[in-house]
Amino acid sequence: MDTEVEDLIDVDTPMISIGTAAQLLGVSVHTLRMYEREGLIIPVKKDSKHRLYSHGDINRVKCIRNAINKMKFSIESIKSIYSMIPCWTIINCSDEHRKTCKAYNIHGKPCWTYKHEDNPCAGKDCRECIVYRHYSDCNRIKEGIKYYTR
Ligand code: SF4
Repeated sequence: MDTEVEDLIDVDTPMISIGTAAQLLGVSVHTLRMYEREGLIIPVKKDSKHRLYSHGDINRVKCIRNAINKMKFSIESIKSIYSMIPCWTIINCSDEHRKTCKAYNIHGKPCWTYKHEDNPCAGKDCRECIVYRHYSDCNRIKEGIKYYTR
């Protein structure tokens, strides 16, 4: 997309249908649904059960496709990479909450795919969370993991 046009559009506004998203990305609708089932993306679900994607979601899927096609990563490897984003540091969870948090103790999957009950993430809309929103492209993920694990 033209960068001037991109600047005018909020990257997080869900406004793209699943069919258009699939066309923009050169993938099938089935593939986008599979990524959602695997917890790699969280589109907005409208009452009608239609999904809407933002430009941030498009960038996220581009990063996923790049990892699969160019770097030969599996879906499981991509989940592991997401699990390395230290959400507990980013949202500043207490030591007490870390003791029982699956994202902190288990790894292997993105934090937003775990059911959180007794910690600050309980009941939060992960799509609105900085951890999900900010780490939507490959460079940010790489930089974030490097920064927080140095
Ligand atoms: S609110 Fe969701 S995305 Fe944010 S740190 Fe918690 S589980 Fe992860």
